[in-house]
Amino acid sequence: MRENLSRMDCFVRPFVTYSTHRSLRLFQCALKTASSTLAYTKRRPWRQSWLRASFQSNTYKNSVDPIPAFNNVAVAEESAQMDVRNKVLLKGLTLEKMQLWLESLGEKRFRALQLWKWLYQQQGGGVDNFASMTNLSKQFREKLEQVAVVDSLKLENVYEAQDGTKKLTFRLKNRDSGLGGGVVESVLIPNESWVTLCVSSQLGCAQRCQFCYTAKMGLHGHLHTAEIVDQVVIAKRLFEKEKRISNVVFMGMGEPLHNIDNVLTAIEILLDEQGLHLSHNKVTVSTSGLVPEMERLTKETKVNLALSLNATTDEVRDKLMPINRKYPIQVLLDTVKRIYTHERSKQKLFVEYVMLNGVNDSLEDAKRLHILLAGIPCKINLIPFNSHEGADFESSSEGKIQLFYNYLTQRGHYVFTRESRGQDKMAACGQLGKPRRLSLTKNKYDSQPL
Ligand code: SF4
Repeated sequence: MRENLSRMDCFVRPFVTYSTHRSLRLFQCALKTASSTLAYTKRRPWRQSWLRASFQSNTYKNSVDPIPAFNNVAVAEESAQMDVRNKVLLKGLTLEKMQLWLESLGEKRFRALQLWKWLYQQQGGGVDNFASMTNLSKQFREKLEQVAVVDSLKLENVYEAQDGTKKLTFRLKNRDSGLGGGVVESVLIPNESWVTLCVSSQLGCAQRCQFCYTAKMGLHGHLHTAEIVDQVVIAKRLFEKEKRISNVVFMGMGEPLHNIDNVLTAIEILLDEQGLHLSHNKVTVSTSGLVPEMERLTKETKVNLALSLNATTDEVRDKLMPINRKYPIQVLLDTVKRIYTHERSKQKLFVEYVMLNGVNDSLEDAKRLHILLAGIPCKINLIPFNSHEGADFESSSEGKIQLFYNYLTQRGHYVFTRESRGQDKMAACGQLGKPRRLSLTKNKYDSQPL
């Protein structure tokens, strides 16, 4: 009998051990899932109400697998970007993402278009609060108020220059400690029948171009998509009554292609037919020459590209623009030649050239530029250097710029000499931003003589 029992024990014990072990693992697993969900929802309070609603709703009870709904939230959240209070920045969402996000909140898809119109079109350029969105139910507006924000920037000042150019300064709202209180600048440049808005894509810049005031700030951070879009929305809301803001150039603070994900989404929102509806050939993105990102931008959008070249030899460009050490002149030009002669013949390419006295403005430079740009369909913009505190350069004289211009036009190039606008308010090209301490922000390239 004892023998039988011990035999039975041998037979049963592994099952008991296995099932106990398995139950324990299952229990641990369930505990882990519950606690991580709790922590997750604790970090995002609006999710708690969404979860509660999902659990109560019939959709959840009848559905076999609730995961697609979670994915919707994840998609919306990932692309929306949140402020420091975990509220969704609405102008960081494309219309499609907004539909997904609203669905995840248990709302109907068509609500997205209603909301979208209030953000960009109603009352002559959108409204800045939920209370004004009068065709949305009070309940829906209250729900939005708890989980999202309309404006992500606060207009702080408008400085008007003698030539009518306006510099707008915006304070970043509800940002984390890194960017909290940061000031972003945009410039409105009126022309005869239209207005161009120059927008920023970063707070400061990491590219260290030696002729640029913004470079002396260093990089404080990337702007969210919503913060880029809001520069356009708020400028339109306040200033479009007189003349249409039809052109947007990414030539303000920052290297747009260093923040390419947010810039691409912002462009998609700016071009959307049901919103701001800018034309793609009126939007221009400037770059110091980030080659892989240039390729991506030109693949994913049809906007214009402005390549800031500023030198005709690598020796000079290495010193003026450190990015040249990574992507030298020939690599840059081979890239744009391939893109603009084969793939994108209809989009415009601008080559920007800041005229620096005694540095890049000789007749030899003009000759080299002519050879370098041979066969590249582009327009050349000659930009007189705009001085700033601590600048190591001065602008080429009008006479020298004219000679440079003549040499190139006589050889068949399209050349424009850009007028300096808004200089007296530090609103001209290369003058934006506010370095804290110039002496400390000088970088190692400053010490190398040109
Ligand atoms: S010129 Fe443009 S890319 Fe260069 S440092 Fe200034 S803002 Fe940055």
